Amino acid sequence: MIDILRKAGLKVTPQRLAILSFLEGNTSHPSAEEIYRALKPRFPSLSPATVYNTLDALIYAGVLQEVNIDPARRRVDPNPEPHTHFLCTRCGRVYDLNLPAYEISIPDEVMGFTVHRYALNLYGVCPACASTT
Ligand SMILES: [Zn+2]
Ligand SMILES: [Zn+2]
Repeated sequence: MIDILRKAGLKVTPQRLAILSFLEGNTSHPSAEEIYRALKPRFPSLSPATVYNTLDALIYAGVLQEVNIDPARRRVDPNPEPHTHFLCTRCGRVYDLNLPAYEISIPDEVMGFTVHRYALNLYGVCPACASTT
């Protein structure tokens, strides 16, 4: 994790290490506010700006993926690989969906624009919410 911070050009601090370990293996796509609230009790001196700056640098370094699916808040995903996200419009949870590649076919070039990566957002109702109606 120290290497990850150095790679992102960040000074290694206990707070930044705590942000990274909070995100490691985390599939809930937390927002900066959620990360801040989760770590604040352990790090009373933690500021929201530190969380925002650290996330920005990690996104820029390609360590984190920014998830722009939720109009209410910007979320992050420790899995930087392209994958499909699903926002449940009832419970507000964001899920990872493993859509087989052959089901979405994005060309490498569209009208002269070279595509390097893409993000696909799906909206609907998750199985847990669908079963409670
Ligand atoms: Zn749901
Ligand atoms: Zn994800």
